[in-house]
Amino acid sequence: MSGDTRDIVVAGSGVAGLSAAVYAARADLDPLVLEGDEPGGQLTLTTDVENYLGFPEGVGGMELIQRGKEQAETFGAEFERGLIETADVEGHPIELELSNGETLRTRALVVATGASARWVGADGEDELMGYGLSTCATCDGAFHRGDDVLVIGGGDSAMEEALFLAKFADSVTVVHRREELRASEIMAERAREHDAIEFRWNTELQAIHGSREDGVTGATLVSHPDGYPSERADEGEDLHSETVDVGGVFYGIGHTPNTTFLEGTDVELDEDGYVLTETDEDGRPTTETGVDGVFVAGDVADPRYQQAVTAAGTGSRAALDAEAFVEAVERSERNPVEATP
Ligand code: NAP
Repeated sequence: MSGDTRDIVVAGSGVAGLSAAVYAARADLDPLVLEGDEPGGQLTLTTDVENYLGFPEGVGGMELIQRGKEQAETFGAEFERGLIETADVEGHPIELELSNGETLRTRALVVATGASARWVGADGEDELMGYGLSTCATCDGAFHRGDDVLVIGGGDSAMEEALFLAKFADSVTVVHRREELRASEIMAERAREHDAIEFRWNTELQAIHGSREDGVTGATLVSHPDGYPSERADEGEDLHSETVDVGGVFYGIGHTPNTTFLEGTDVELDEDGYVLTETDEDGRPTTETGVDGVFVAGDVADPRYQQAVTAAGTGSRAALDAEAFVEAVERSERNPVEATP
């Protein structure tokens, strides 16, 4: 592919990237989708998805992604196992250096690289993620009716997860590594006042027990009155350790947007690394980044909603914006007297 200039490259193959690919492919833009190092994105880490429109019986996260990929391929999208190492987005065409050494040139780039939920690093998490261990209460909470569950974290995400889970679970225990919450006062108060929610302070999750067949069955927690138990273990201090019976564990310790390759470019990022988008002349939101030809879709620009269905929506919007941009570039290439977009 090196040498030719693509109309559109979509970076990321989660719901946002796939939705952008379907729209771009149907517009005959022959999109190339770079699948990244987590092909399919976060949905591949979940089991059933019950809140994606059109699946009254629910759908497996992996199946939804596979069907989306098939749909994009049907209209001519190409997929490649690529990861962008550096991006020269200021020049035209945009130039992308991939980690495999390949160079791509493209008129438009849709950044749909997502945000990865942070993992704690507890024993058992690799095996049990998606099998009773989850990073998304909205996605998986309803599978825990009548269970005792743990939520790990002390920020707004953890409070939100705990409050959502309290609708289904028998009990929700928020496990926080310090004795002071990071969450906003309003969220913290709601969680504190809820009868079904308890807190374990100065405590960390050490291990999750269970199997893919039976799901999560228990968890080992360690605590120290002065907080940050794992650091105290490094210092050789005695820790209190306890194994509890639980039917689910939810991580709510934040997300990291996958935007390292945009650092130092003209694409503006907020302090957490999420891409900032532009509004149009009437103040309405767009998927434009302020850099010509670079559009954004999905969680990488959305610390707030982070839902599959919202990601799919922004994917289609980014592709429509990119299509209009490419058409304008082509017009100006045909008739250089016209202003470039
Ligand atoms: P956050 O504010 O960074 O909080 C992360 C929490 O996880 C902190 O309490 C942190 O502990 C804990 N943590 C981090 N790494 C850990 C580890 N390895 N082991 C155990 N605990 C760990 O992230 P967030 O809660 O996702 O919020 C991110 C942003 O989104 C915030 O600005 C938040 O206000 C916003 N948000 C808003 C809403 C809402 O308003 N409805 C909902 C969700 C998120 P320490 O406190 O000890 O550092």
